[in-house]
Amino acid sequence: MSKSNYRGRFAPSPTGLLHAGSLSTAVGSYLEARSQGGEWLLRMEDLDPPREVPGAADSILKTLEAFGFEWDGEVAYQSRRHHLYRDALKQLIENGKAYACACTRKEIAAAAKRGLDGYVYPGTCRHGCPDGREGRAWRLRVNARLTTLPDRLQGEYSQNLASDIGDFVLLRADGFWAYQLAVVVDDAEQGVSDIVRGADLLVSTPRQLAVYDALGLEPPSYCHLPVLTNGAGEKLSKQTLAPAISTGDAARQLRAALALLGHEAPVECGSLDELWLWARQRWSLSRVPRGPLLAPL
Ligand code: GLU
Repeated sequence: MSKSNYRGRFAPSPTGLLHAGSLSTAVGSYLEARSQGGEWLLRMEDLDPPREVPGAADSILKTLEAFGFEWDGEVAYQSRRHHLYRDALKQLIENGKAYACACTRKEIAAAAKRGLDGYVYPGTCRHGCPDGREGRAWRLRVNARLTTLPDRLQGEYSQNLASDIGDFVLLRADGFWAYQLAVVVDDAEQGVSDIVRGADLLVSTPRQLAVYDALGLEPPSYCHLPVLTNGAGEKLSKQTLAPAISTGDAARQLRAALALLGHEAPVECGSLDELWLWARQRWSLSRVPRGPLLAPL
């Protein structure tokens, strides 16, 4: 039994292998959970088969294991949890909070302004699809007021969902569940109290708060860790060709990830076990920089 009510998680998408950026997020979320005597869950976000890389989910698990991460319980797979997303969407439709949308990407691009994360949906189908058109996607109706969250590392972050993002997709036109819905349904269902993840997801958080609100659920607390960038200032990702981490020199890479997060381990800590022991005792969010951080080569 856990000593506290803290329950954290790491939720990789198997669209590529782990790289230095995802490793540092895993390290930060793991140490924050363990330093508070909390649990740490692992959830594979495998909801987007067209973007997934065969074998990546297993490789991510093996890599985490080789680095010495210990997660609580079984790994959850989003691909096996569709019924939960379906129930949530049904509730939102019944409460009038979600609506069907017939717009194509092209139509949206022609009618919309750019916002904080792509086009701001212009609300074409908000009061029903145009005559003769059928809904292809489902969207959440958002409010025109400021959503503000206190982030434990990045400070206060605000968005006006109506003007910055627009009504956003819950179920995509291609039939796949949107990340914004699935992540909330899962974190709530799994009892996650504290989300520690990369700062690239800060822009998504007000949307997730809107989903919590629409479903009548209590949101968790948030902490967005610095993202790692390459020499060109781009976030490390599959798209920017970030190299996959190898498990051959795991201790060196764990040491580097800790140093980036403001925890420079003494040279005497040579092995993975020694590094983890040291880090679990010393971990403090107050030492973690806000970033972004240049990834070491
Ligand atoms: N699956 C997402 C990713 O790999 C992370 C989701 C989250 O932590 O909320 O970027």
